[in-house]
Amino acid sequence: MRALITGGAGFIGSHLAEALLERGDSVYVIDNLSTGRLENVQHLRSHPRFGIAVETILNETVMDRLVSECDVIFHLAAAVGVELIVSHPVETIETNILGTHMVLKLANRYLRRVLIASTSEIYGKSEKVPFSEDDDRILGPTSRSRWSYADSKAIDEYLAFAYHKEKNLQVTVARLFNTVGPRQTGRWGMVIPRMVTQALRGQPITVYGSGNQIRSFTYVKDTVRALIALVDSPSTVGQIYNVGSHNTISIKELAHKIKEMTNSPSEIVYIPYEQAYEKGFEDMRIRIPDLSKIRNAIGWEPQYTLEDILREVIEYFRANPHAM
Ligand code: UDP
Repeated sequence: MRALITGGAGFIGSHLAEALLERGDSVYVIDNLSTGRLENVQHLRSHPRFGIAVETILNETVMDRLVSECDVIFHLAAAVGVELIVSHPVETIETNILGTHMVLKLANRYLRRVLIASTSEIYGKSEKVPFSEDDDRILGPTSRSRWSYADSKAIDEYLAFAYHKEKNLQVTVARLFNTVGPRQTGRWGMVIPRMVTQALRGQPITVYGSGNQIRSFTYVKDTVRALIALVDSPSTVGQIYNVGSHNTISIKELAHKIKEMTNSPSEIVYIPYEQAYEKGFEDMRIRIPDLSKIRNAIGWEPQYTLEDILREVIEYFRANPHAM
């Protein structure tokens, strides 16, 4: 199969490219390097079945050619990271909505199979445990930039289903929960790479808010396996799936675990949200996925534990200190 990965030089996209090449597929990546890095795919560039365009997905001429030449599109290009979203709201909304529109329009033009990467942010600040795909969404006011991310991705989902319903486009949506692994940078706010970097440098480990907020972390290799299996299975067309894990922990406990696993002298400090992000910032208290739908559809289960994930991330930053 010839796969086009938008955002393929990013953290998840580069792992997906690797996995597809390994099983014999051809991979073409388009990435504007806004948060992606060439370094993430450097080891793939000499591969005979790999190609890359450093270009925005909003360039219709380039995208038209790439979509016409592929069998399936993994649409991962998006503005990501809570810090980026809060500091660059225009870029977030435009990239997410216009970019997905471009992908769906062209996929429909050439009748291509599409997977749209969405997000658990969609559920907003609902405190339901766990989140199922059909649950209601609870979001804050439009004056708080954070929610623009959830809404922009929700429009992407609506549009994907509209193309499926009206034009029979073969599209599947994956809602990714907190995904972690090597090559993820802490620069845009992601908690595990950030805390591991802080711990390895002996700098204060920053816990935002009370630290009682709960997340479940998924290893990127598990995530990538799910994305490929979803696209491989015709029964997932027109459906949404949570892709996450039950590696559940409070952020406070996470900070302690990282300090312990890195043998770090760092102190753990608590920073109010409005200092970390912006005035009035609202966080999610708890975010855990219901995984029964994806299990029933394709038999997928995450395999890596939180300890596995932290070990891999710590090893990665120790081996690649320049990536910190
Ligand atoms: N967080 C933190 N310290 C940091 C970065 C993030 O305590 O240096 C918190 C953040 O406020 C959130 C959780 O860790 O409650 C996960 O943040 P991340 O940005 O990784 O993902 P989110 O779940 O917010 O999308």
